[in-house]
Amino acid sequence: MRILLTFVLFAIALCANSYDFSVYKKGSGTGNTVLIIGGIQGDEPGGFSAASLLATKYAITHGNIWVVPNLNFESIIKRSRGVHGDMNRKFRALNESDPEFELVEKVKDLITHDEVDLVINLHDGSGFYRKQWIDKKRNPYKWGQCTIIDQKKLEGVKFGNLREISEFVVANVNERSLKSEHNYLVKNTKTYAGNEEMAKSLTWFAVQNGKPAFGNEASKEFLTPQRAFYHLLAVEAFLEYAGVAFERDFALDPKGVELALNDDVKININDKIVLDVINSKNWINYLPLKKGAKQKIVSNNPLATIVPQDNHYRVHYGNRRMSILMPQYFDYDEAIDGFDFLIDGESQKIPFGEVVEVSRDFLVAPKEGYRTNVIGFTQRGVTDESGFVVSKKDILNRFAIDKEEHIFRVEIYNQKENRFAGMVLVRFTDTKGSDRLTSLELD
Ligand SMILES: [Zn+2]
Repeated sequence: MRILLTFVLFAIALCANSYDFSVYKKGSGTGNTVLIIGGIQGDEPGGFSAASLLATKYAITHGNIWVVPNLNFESIIKRSRGVHGDMNRKFRALNESDPEFELVEKVKDLITHDEVDLVINLHDGSGFYRKQWIDKKRNPYKWGQCTIIDQKKLEGVKFGNLREISEFVVANVNERSLKSEHNYLVKNTKTYAGNEEMAKSLTWFAVQNGKPAFGNEASKEFLTPQRAFYHLLAVEAFLEYAGVAFERDFALDPKGVELALNDDVKININDKIVLDVINSKNWINYLPLKKGAKQKIVSNNPLATIVPQDNHYRVHYGNRRMSILMPQYFDYDEAIDGFDFLIDGESQKIPFGEVVEVSRDFLVAPKEGYRTNVIGFTQRGVTDESGFVVSKKDILNRFAIDKEEHIFRVEIYNQKENRFAGMVLVRFTDTKGSDRLTSLELD
């Protein structure tokens, strides 16, 4: 396969600087619908990472899931519990002037939607919830490793047997928990009995509106992949109870979850540039962005985006800042959407915003009115680098766009007006020595 990464566009078009949440609706259209919410607090990556995997790596074969993986996206990116206060205390009453008023209204509409049968809100909690005091980390005041209900029962509602369902989920999680010390318990917050704090929460709003709702908590004692692993064990048990059938394309263990979270996270800029979010260098210079316009940012992952900051842009993935982009602004040429190359001697048109694999060398075909800049390749006195056979040894490694230094930028400009037409990334696959070095470093 020559085109390594065909960019799949999901229905998320974010303008830079907008922090709206995403909604993924997946399923067969018939059967029950489970709404799963992650990221109500921005500093709980286990929950929002699990939700992002449900959104991107699960196929639903019967029944339906609706997933909001990034409810408080601004706080996720800014690595804060709540940039504008705790969003999970805004569901009983909220002033219209609150900056999150519209987000809260929008998620309330989802929760109370006729089609929604069951609601799960994913959190990361401190320590381990235990019924008796064991020590500072394990006691009745902790929140980690439990499934939460506000009361035992919700009368007259499908899935209103909250206690039974949470016990089913807990038993299923515990069958596959990594250690018995990680085992889940049911926590009943008894919100109806005057728990003032919980009465402001999302799940209590749901219950008050006749929707069965559960909190699920993974312990902050674990790293993110292991937290997400426990969340997914619990969510899969909820889905089983609700008769929702699914397939997933990764192994459900902490390692499998970690690989899935770091697999194929891409951002496309202005339909002309693509970034591999996980492998990009920390710093990318002279990125040709559009002069005097908002940049169009589209990601295949709900946790990845680009945010403007002072004179540069920051690439974010969940709580992690992945890269800083230093822009150089150009007018854009929209006349062409790709360019002709010879890849290992074979002629091919490569669309802009794609990554193409090269084993030996490539050549950009000269085109009237356009000039090519292969970043890191120079020929004395030459401004148009089309027509040259280029192999990896001809390009300076430090100009690579990725940490492993295999991927290089080929930029095409309209010659007359110096307008940016588009970028293709070239990935050299024949990299023997450096591959070994990288795997040693990772060990
Ligand atoms: Zn929380």
